[in-house]
Amino acid sequence: MTAPVRPLPDLGTLTWDQSAGRACIWCKKLLTTGAVSVGIIRGQLGAHVLDTEVWAGPCCAVAQPQ
Ligand SMILES: [Zn+2]
Repeated sequence: MTAPVRPLPDLGTLTWDQSAGRACIWCKKLLTTGAVSVGIIRGQLGAHVLDTEVWAGPCCAVAQPQ
């Protein structure tokens, strides 16, 4: 299915776990099973591209009702 339409948080507000794809992008819960990719947050710091793929668990991904 397509990713849920929900605004992604700003790259600078992510925790380490979130930017590493280990935690839900919206509620910060650590992901175990059922995580889905919800998009890529585009970012750039000087010459460094910081594009980060982010994930959500069943807790927040509307495509996977609990
Ligand atoms: Zn969540």
